[in-house]
Amino acid sequence: MNAKHWIKSPVDMGGSAMEFRRAFTLDKKVKSATISVSAMGVYALYLNGKRLMDNGVLTPGFTGYLNHVQYQTYDVGAALRASNKLTIAAAPGWAVGNMGYQHKQKNFADAVSVIAELVITFADGSKKRIVTDRSFEVWSSPVEYSDIYMGETTNLCHRARLIGKAVGAEVKAKLVPQVGELIVEQDRIAAGKLIVTPKGERVIDFGQNMTGYVEFKVTGKRGERIRLSYAEVLDKDGNFYNANYRSSKNDVVYILNGKPAVLKPTFSFQGFRYIRLDEFPEGEVDLSAITAIAVYSDIKRTGYFRCGNEKVNQLYQNTIWGQKSNYLDIPTDCPQRDERLGWTGDTQVFCRTAALNYNVRRFFDKWLMDLRAEQEADGAVRGVCPSPFVDGTYNTRVSAAWGDSACVVPWELYMAYGDKKILADNFEMMKKWVGYQRTFGPEEFLWIGGNHYGDWLAMDAGGDYYHGATSYDLIASAYFAYSTSLVIKAGEVLGEDVSEYRTLHDNVVAAIRRYFTDNGVPKSEVEMTFRKPGTDYGDILPNHPNTQTSMVLMLAFGLCRDDERPALVERLCQLIKENGGCMATGFVGTPLLLHALSENGRTDVAYQLLLQEKAPSWLYSVNHGATTIWEHWNSIKEDGSFWSTDMNSFNHYSYGAVCDWLYGVVCGVKPAEPGYKKIRIAPQPSPVLGNAECSIDTVAGRIESRWFYRDGALRFEFTVPEGATAEIVLPNGFETTVAGGRYVFTMDV
Ligand code: BGC
Repeated sequence: MNAKHWIKSPVDMGGSAMEFRRAFTLDKKVKSATISVSAMGVYALYLNGKRLMDNGVLTPGFTGYLNHVQYQTYDVGAALRASNKLTIAAAPGWAVGNMGYQHKQKNFADAVSVIAELVITFADGSKKRIVTDRSFEVWSSPVEYSDIYMGETTNLCHRARLIGKAVGAEVKAKLVPQVGELIVEQDRIAAGKLIVTPKGERVIDFGQNMTGYVEFKVTGKRGERIRLSYAEVLDKDGNFYNANYRSSKNDVVYILNGKPAVLKPTFSFQGFRYIRLDEFPEGEVDLSAITAIAVYSDIKRTGYFRCGNEKVNQLYQNTIWGQKSNYLDIPTDCPQRDERLGWTGDTQVFCRTAALNYNVRRFFDKWLMDLRAEQEADGAVRGVCPSPFVDGTYNTRVSAAWGDSACVVPWELYMAYGDKKILADNFEMMKKWVGYQRTFGPEEFLWIGGNHYGDWLAMDAGGDYYHGATSYDLIASAYFAYSTSLVIKAGEVLGEDVSEYRTLHDNVVAAIRRYFTDNGVPKSEVEMTFRKPGTDYGDILPNHPNTQTSMVLMLAFGLCRDDERPALVERLCQLIKENGGCMATGFVGTPLLLHALSENGRTDVAYQLLLQEKAPSWLYSVNHGATTIWEHWNSIKEDGSFWSTDMNSFNHYSYGAVCDWLYGVVCGVKPAEPGYKKIRIAPQPSPVLGNAECSIDTVAGRIESRWFYRDGALRFEFTVPEGATAEIVLPNGFETTVAGGRYVFTMDV
C-alpha cells in the first residue's frame, strides 16, 4: 500500500473515537475488490454498515509504530453495491492513547490517523482505486472515549455530527502487510455466578482469569447506564479488589437507548475474572445475557499435558490461560494493569513453553521484527519491546536476562520450528547484543555494572524486595556466556565463521570462574571491585553469588567443568533444604531450576519442588484458587492479605515456564535436532505423579508420550511421527532408536 495517504481529523479528538466516511457509487459490474487498511490507533472497518474484518479485532495491532505499522487486506467484492458507504472507525489505542505506566499519551503519534486503499476490478477488466484523502469526512463516533488502559464509553444515544473534512497526516512508519497472527475473539465464557459482596456490591464471577471483554445483550431504557469495574481476585473478606491495576482504570460505560443491543468494547480490552456492576439497568440481572470473550492472537494450540496430580494439571491449565491472556499480538507481562507491555525478560523465559503449547512462529516473527528495529546502535536491547518510551524521557533498563531475549528467542524458535531463516533474520541482532555485553563496563569478559532487574521478584533478599539476592554481576556475566554460546550455535547452523565467539566464550567462562567461584562453586561473597553498594540502587545491591539462582546459572549455562557439577548440585540442594524445601528463585532462576536439578541427577528434588505447596512454590497459588499464573510467589499471603498493590498481577506467565519441564522431562520429549525430525524421548517418571502424558503437534508431526504404573511395572507408550526418528531412553538405561510409529515399552519397578 502506498504510504502517502494518511489522514486525520481536522481537530484534536482527545480520547474519543471518530469515523472516517466516504460515500461512492459504482456503475459497472464488480468482479473483485480488496481494501487494505491501517491506522495509527486502532481501527474497525465497515462497508454499508457491515463490519468487514475477517474476525480480526484491535487492528492493526501493536507494533513499534515509529518503525513500522501493519496493514490488513480484506476481500470486499461481495459487499459492494451500486451506492456504497465506507467507514473506518478509529480510536487512540496503543499508538496514541495511554501506554507505559506513566500516564503518558501520544507516545507514537500526536493524533489518530488512518490509511486505506480500495481497489475494485470490474467485470470489463477496468479498475477503480479509492484512497484515503481529503474527500473523506470525519464524523463523531458513539464511542465517546476509548483507551487501552482507561476503558471505553459507548453512547448509544449519540447523534453523529460532522467534524469536518479529513486532513493529511504525516506518518513515518513503514507500512507492512500483516506479519503476525490476527487478534481474534476466542473462548466464550458464560457468567458463572452473581455475588453480592459483604460491602453490598454486585459482582459477577466468570470463574477464569482472562483477557478480553464482556458482552451484554441488553435493552434498558433510554439513558440508562451500564458501568463496570474489573478485578482478578476478591480480597480476604470476599470484597471486590483491584488496587493492583494501579493507574489503569478500565472504566467501561454504556449509555443505552431503549433498543435491544449487543454491547462490548470496540477498541479496548481488559484483564479480569470478576466484574462489578457499578451501574446497571433496574431489575434482575440476567446472567444468560452476559458472556466474557477471551481475546488473543490467532495462534493454534499444539501441546497438551496431563498427569495423575490434579494440582499440577491446574498449574498447567493456569499456564495455558496465562499464554492466552498475554499473547495478544505481543508477548506481554500482564494484561490488566498500566503495563501490558512486551517485557523482554518475561518473553525469553517463557518462549520455549509457549512454542510447545501453541504454534507461535508467526507471532514471534512479528515481535522479532520489532526487537530488531528497536535494538540500539551499540547493540543495547531494552526491557520492553515494542517500546512506548520513544521520546527518551523515560526508558526501560538494558538488563541482563531481558536484553538476552535477542539471542534466546530466535534460538528457541529455531529449535521448535527448525527453520534456518529464523536464525538468518536475527543473527546480526544476536551478534550485536553480545557485542554490547562485551564492551560494557571495565571488563571485556565479564558484564560488571549496569542497571539490571536482577533475579526479579525472588524472595531471597527479603520478601518485599523486588530484585532478589543474586549478584547482578553474576547474572549478567552468566547470560553473557549463554548468549555468546547461542551466537556460536546459530553461526554454525548458518555456516558463519564463529571462531572469534568461541574464543570469547572460553574467556567469559574462565573469567566467571575466576571472579565468582572457588573451583567452580560460587563464593559466598564477591569483593565489590567495580561497584559499591548504595551507589547505583539505593542501599541494597544484590551481591550474593551464593544463591540458588547462582548455582542454577552455573549448571544450566555450563559455566562449570563436568567434575564440578556434583558439588554445585549438592550446594543447590543444600540451599533448597535450608529454605524449608522451597525454591528461592525469581524470574531468572526459576525457569532453569528444575532442569538444572534433573540434568544433574536430582530429578527427585525437582519433583519435590514441583509438588511443594508452601510459598514460594507453584502449587501455593493453585491452592489459593489461582486460574492463571501469579506474578509474585506471595501475591496472596497465608493470612489472605496481598503482598503489595504495586507488582501484584495475577496473570503474569513467567513462572509458567515450568511447563517446558513437564513436556521435556516428565514426559521426556525434546527436539534432538531443531524441528523435531530427530526426537529424544526420555521420560523421568515419578510414582508421586502416578502417570503423565503429552502430545505435541510439531512441524514434523504429532509426538505423543505417555507413562503409567500398573502391576509393579511402568508402561510407556510413544508415538513418533512418520518421517522422524526418535532416540528412546528409559529410566533403567534401556536405549533404542526408532522410526515413525507407535511403541510400547514396559519396565519393572
Ligand atoms: C513487569 C515485569 C518485568 C519487570 C522488569 C515489571 O513491571 O511487570 O514482568 O519484567 O517490570 O523487571
